[in-house]
Amino acid sequence: MSKLYLSPPDLADSDHASLHQALESGWVAPVGPHLDHFECRMALEAERSHAVALNSGTAALHLALKLLGVGPGDQVICPSFTFIASANPITYCGAEPIFVDSECSTWNLDPELLERALKNETAVKAVICVHLYGQCAQMDPILSLCADYGVPLIEDAAEALGARYRGRPAGSFGALSFYSFNGNKIITTSAGGMLMTDSEAWAQRAQKLASQAREEVLHYEHLEVGYNYRMSNILAALGLAQLDSLERRVFQRKIHFIAYREQLELQAGLQMMPIHPDGSPNYWLTCLTVDPAKADASPRNIIEALAAENIEARPLWKPLHMQPVFKGCVAYLNGVSEALYATGLCLPSGSNMLQQDRQRVIDCIVSCLKKSNVGNG
Ligand SMILES: *Cc1c(COP(=O)(O)O)cnc(C)c1O
Repeated sequence: MSKLYLSPPDLADSDHASLHQALESGWVAPVGPHLDHFECRMALEAERSHAVALNSGTAALHLALKLLGVGPGDQVICPSFTFIASANPITYCGAEPIFVDSECSTWNLDPELLERALKNETAVKAVICVHLYGQCAQMDPILSLCADYGVPLIEDAAEALGARYRGRPAGSFGALSFYSFNGNKIITTSAGGMLMTDSEAWAQRAQKLASQAREEVLHYEHLEVGYNYRMSNILAALGLAQLDSLERRVFQRKIHFIAYREQLELQAGLQMMPIHPDGSPNYWLTCLTVDPAKADASPRNIIEALAAENIEARPLWKPLHMQPVFKGCVAYLNGVSEALYATGLCLPSGSNMLQQDRQRVIDCIVSCLKKSNVGNG
């Protein structure tokens, strides 16, 4: 049986055709018509004035922090419960991450703890919020706190393209927002990212910083240090083709979530990720938590049982305040992220996963629980 992955790339003939067309056009460089077109389409999708295509989501966050002037001596608030790419660029800028725990209803940044951090800390230059697993954070209270304290919000929508909060797209809320098009995300350019903003000045400056900060003169003139962060025109062609089927991708991932929920919530001790009524997720990954006392199996038991069937499953993100690399960083905690890490797992959720493969995952989990039940007698 071929291996079933969490979120593999979902490719079609239209992707090949678009890539072929870009190659034929001769624009084999980080500049060209596909790049311009992809930026326009993404700006429309996110209801933003400007989009800047980059070679990763991490690069987009790094530039967002640079645009806000984050540097040594500054603090940046970041959720603890997220992928490490949400925090690494803070340290690239020489700034200090301040980790804030999650709330239970979306698993994202807890507004109460955010308020406490904003009250206590004296050098906060930016707040990063993340829409984890494709579900939006509680944007209304988060935005109003940022406004009260005069701190700009950066929105990490890497996992959330196609998700909405109260009708508005994830990626439309931050002073600066970004998406990722890594191979495992909802659409992919193999690797890539997109920085979103309504400020023309910021968009122009991001483009310049992403192109070695080259001045607009004939000879090569540089007044500051820049980066090589632009997306290739070839990869933008892939992104354009992928974006055409965004709606189908969200729909198929939602069908997976509903089918998993229907069959797995019947099992004692299993609980799906909560869905907050203010949002409509893109269902990037189906996640659940396991109460080992009621299920007679731990998340690790289930992950191992799935691995034995050649099915990939993983624990939820290990909180960043627990990561050795961030040892000693300030953290505002409430136990939520640690509990999620201890009890949670995510399941194969690709938009190209077949129904029979999804059923294979469900059957394997159910039989793992049964075995443990018999064993514990
Ligand atoms: C994938 C991801 C990123 C980073 O995006 P890359 O394109 O891989 O650099 C950042 N934040 C979150 C939450 C992610 O899942």
